[in-house]
Amino acid sequence: MAKLESRVPNGPLAEKWSKHKNDIRLVNPANKRNIDIIVIGTGLAGASASASLAELGYNVKTFCYQDSPRRAHSIAAQGGVNAAKNYQGDGDSVYRLFYDTIKGGDYRSREANVHRLAEVSTNIIDQCVAQGVPFAREYGGLLDNRSFGGVQVSRTFYAKGQTGQQLLLGAYSAMNRQIQRGKIKSYTRHEMLDLVLVDGKARGIIARNLVTGELERHSAHAVVLATGGYGNVFYLSTYCMGANVMAAWRAHRRGAHFANPCFTQIHPTCIPVSGDHQSKLTLMSESLRNDGRIWVPKKLEDAKAIREGKLRPTDLAEEDRDYYLERRYPAFGNLVPRDVASRAAKERCDAGFGVNKTGEAVYLDFDSAIMRYGREKANTMGLKDADDKKVRALGEEIVEAKYGNLFQMYEKIVNENPYKTPMKIYPAVHYAMGGLWVDYNLMTTIPGCYAAGEANFSDHGANRLGASALMQGLADGYFVLPYTIGDYLADDIQTGSISTDLPEFEAAEKEVKERLEKLMSGSGKHSVDYYHKKLGKIMWNKCGMSRNEQGLNEAIKEIAELREDFYKNVRIPGELNAMNSELEKAHRVADFLELGELFAVDALNRNESCGGHFREEYQTEEGEALRDDENYRYVAAWEYTGVPSEAKLHKEELVYENIELKTRSYK
Ligand SMILES: Cc1cc2nc3c(=O)[nH]c(=O)nc-3n(C[C@H](O)[C@H](O)[C@H](O)COP(=O)(O)OP(=O)(O)OC[C@H]3O[C@@H](n4cnc5c(N)ncnc54)[C@H](O)[C@@H]3O)c2cc1C
Repeated sequence: MAKLESRVPNGPLAEKWSKHKNDIRLVNPANKRNIDIIVIGTGLAGASASASLAELGYNVKTFCYQDSPRRAHSIAAQGGVNAAKNYQGDGDSVYRLFYDTIKGGDYRSREANVHRLAEVSTNIIDQCVAQGVPFAREYGGLLDNRSFGGVQVSRTFYAKGQTGQQLLLGAYSAMNRQIQRGKIKSYTRHEMLDLVLVDGKARGIIARNLVTGELERHSAHAVVLATGGYGNVFYLSTYCMGANVMAAWRAHRRGAHFANPCFTQIHPTCIPVSGDHQSKLTLMSESLRNDGRIWVPKKLEDAKAIREGKLRPTDLAEEDRDYYLERRYPAFGNLVPRDVASRAAKERCDAGFGVNKTGEAVYLDFDSAIMRYGREKANTMGLKDADDKKVRALGEEIVEAKYGNLFQMYEKIVNENPYKTPMKIYPAVHYAMGGLWVDYNLMTTIPGCYAAGEANFSDHGANRLGASALMQGLADGYFVLPYTIGDYLADDIQTGSISTDLPEFEAAEKEVKERLEKLMSGSGKHSVDYYHKKLGKIMWNKCGMSRNEQGLNEAIKEIAELREDFYKNVRIPGELNAMNSELEKAHRVADFLELGELFAVDALNRNESCGGHFREEYQTEEGEALRDDENYRYVAAWEYTGVPSEAKLHKEELVYENIELKTRSYK
């Protein structure tokens, strides 16, 4: 099986990427015209990769399961995208972005990749501005920035609370230009169900046309998986309902190692779960922590009275409120990284201070920001004697301009006005730091199979900093893959087109067909959602915000049993060879039922706490994550061997030559 070779170039950290670009092989323009690349996924990673690869001259085929490339989940991204531009003159630099990202990820990411990410971050903004992405601007016309968690500078570029949508429209228009030129062929409502290997190389896919139900074969010289993250293994999450692990998992089963599956991010500011009927959780962007202050009552009796509806939060005096993040982490306050903020919220709620009926909510309060902004505005308008009412009205206008769509979304869902009463929030599953293992060129352990964006394990270690996912997806697609893929494809300039009549395609299609038939043959006792919800409960309770050995062992057993029951008893109405959304779901859940098991195995293997992976056995006296650098400073890359719990572990040792390993502190 493939060897774990990270291919990080030699030389000083800051010169590695430039040196690598100079050293790797190129494909000349005439030869690019003879090379086909399949890109699965049209989110920010896939759209930017396909537009750039087509612009370079390759023939690109893109696939997505939505009805349009621009419906990819990236459209949901709210808060912003990071870049080390230092427009604020507040001390930012490429090094600082690199440092913050490594520290934020609790020293579990690859130095060279993270430095490259920080280097190309600045190009991303220029590229997107050139495409017409309407980033927010300051009064003077310069691009505006705000802060995200785990950093002490303002480096986040944003377009109100709709940054993902605007960035995706930019990438999609670049894609569209190539579609029109005939360099991209776009397959929408198509789902990749398997990867086809010929002579050990990725040479194509089996896809299902979701409208007709037909299976199709597509060939190429390389396949890029930009298929997003797997957080929906928890059922409830902030992801779109369709987000799934199938493409990555199918590649895993064919030989691509899966790295750090237990590194998932639980985001601290989401609208709390309201009951069992729910299938989706809503994020309230981290950008809100720039201005919102997080608190719970100081006294248990006040928390109880609030839960019983006998006391309103606005009635509680300042001295009766516990701004616990400001208290525990004065240097970063409300802008500590997500894993730290999530755990702190859980700690307060577990101790009985939660503020909604379920006891699982804390407040995110904008009152001080409204009054502060209002006072500034009144001053600039010359209204020195403005009363509180006037100041509040002016402040609300400013808060609305910054976060209006998020406030509106909150009010629609919760039916409370967040300008007048604090938002209630609680942590929820949000992002997958783990994913397919890739080398420095973004190639998986299968030659010719690449992974980009959230689908790879890449740059975020054990915890991703806010606004870094968009940065990484766009870095991979616009600025990394277009260079590195040529190094591999240089061997294919004389290969010619790959036939889909090869026996490997035939065999893969047969396997897919049999899998679909097996799914359809369940006894019909329970719906697909029944199983997905059950899996989600196991994941949340035993592999969620905190984990322990006993719970993880139970999870491994329970998931295996659930998977067995799923195949016996799942109910899929409708037909096999036609549009069938339950069948689509079933196929995705089947893969989650395998991934969930590997997730627990990975969490059990990692006898330390780091970032979002919190093992109760390994914590400091203050309840912070306790790393074990001596024994676990590695990427855990799992090789599929037939049963998820028997996957074989490969270790990529993480070498820190340019950064000192420290205990992470945000105090
Ligand atoms: C609510 C929310 C807000 C966020 N806000 C921010 C933010 O402000 N800043 C930030 O940096 N990050 C944010 N994130 C994270 C960020 O949005 C994602 O990590 C990022 O957009 C992922 O992009 P991607 O291109 O890797 O994948 P996605 O955008 O998830 O795209 C996946 C693509 O793969 C396709 N696909 C998947 N499987 C298959 C298959 N089997 N066959 C065919 N096609 C397939 C899908 O159709 C889709 O086109 C947010 C996330 C959420 C949930």
